[in-house]
Amino acid sequence: MTKLFFKMGVMVLPLMLPACEGAGEQNATVSPEKDPLNVVFMIGDGMGVGQLTTMFYYKDGASAFEDFKEVGFINTSSASNKVTDSAGAGTAFATGQKSFNRGLGLDMDSMPVPSILSVLKSQGYQTGLVSVSSITHATPAAFYAKVTDRDMEEEIAEQLVGANLDFFAGGGLSFFNKRNDGRDLFEELVALGYRMDSVQVGSVGDVGVPYGYLLADGGLEPRHKGRGDFLPRATQTALQRLSAAEKGFFLMVEGSYIDWAGHAKDKNFLLAEMMDFEETLAYVIDFVKSDGNTLLIVTGDHETGGVSVGKGKSIDEVEVYFNTDQHTADLVPVFAMGPGAENFKGFYQNNDIFHKILRSLGADQ
Ligand SMILES: [Zn+2]
Repeated sequence: MTKLFFKMGVMVLPLMLPACEGAGEQNATVSPEKDPLNVVFMIGDGMGVGQLTTMFYYKDGASAFEDFKEVGFINTSSASNKVTDSAGAGTAFATGQKSFNRGLGLDMDSMPVPSILSVLKSQGYQTGLVSVSSITHATPAAFYAKVTDRDMEEEIAEQLVGANLDFFAGGGLSFFNKRNDGRDLFEELVALGYRMDSVQVGSVGDVGVPYGYLLADGGLEPRHKGRGDFLPRATQTALQRLSAAEKGFFLMVEGSYIDWAGHAKDKNFLLAEMMDFEETLAYVIDFVKSDGNTLLIVTGDHETGGVSVGKGKSIDEVEVYFNTDQHTADLVPVFAMGPGAENFKGFYQNNDIFHKILRSLGADQ
């Protein structure tokens, strides 16, 4: 990996940030000689402190999360509900506005709000999405779709075709090629120039073209039921494809089933998905350290399961407890690394992440 940052001999100075959130996005200071900053935004769906704690106690050896020096907390409530769903939370991350549960990319008046993907795309950035669930599921869809209800997945798939992504990988093939309207969006993406694959994530031979991977009719299998290393591998392939861009890139990676494990109140499911997410994180951290010009943000969209780690059967044992099979309003940690990471310290709202990313990039809104 080329250490662009050092090769160019340019110091990355701490950004001069305005004291007031939301007031200074237009005038963030970025050295003009510096390459545009890349962003990797990793979302553990349903990942709160309890999920992280579970992994810390049950995993052998150190955790990749221990590499982070900058940590914050977000309030995940949506504008309609104290306890958000992934659609409300995804919309807050993607658009910078809290809105209503179940809606994607819309404000409280159901008017479309620009996503960080379209904002950055219009400035020449490459964009990518990776998810183990259907690529039309709430969290990834919040970054490109505008619909009143997250279940409108055929409509969402149609909007993905027009989203001009440079890379996407996940499930959801049936929303593209087994549709009620008879259209075959998989073939439409091929006609648009996408290298499409429904079997496996291969290597990206030609970095000048967009790539799309739809590897299951719905979501992929859970990791402990045979998904394999899809998430780390697809993330690695996405970084390979997107880092070839001259202008910089934005990549969202979702560990979708940490949430499902909470709904299922299943410790082994939870551990498998946390370890999968962490395996992916370890790779991304290597990339971030080597690249020197990539901002990494890792958080959860909400907590699921009211997970806590308490007393086990004996004094040197712990046990994982699930307080509910639903989402909770728990505060969720945010971890950041790379240029601009210091912006993500402290306590703030989930939608502030959008503004903090754009300020770190020095990108106009
Ligand atoms: Zn959920």
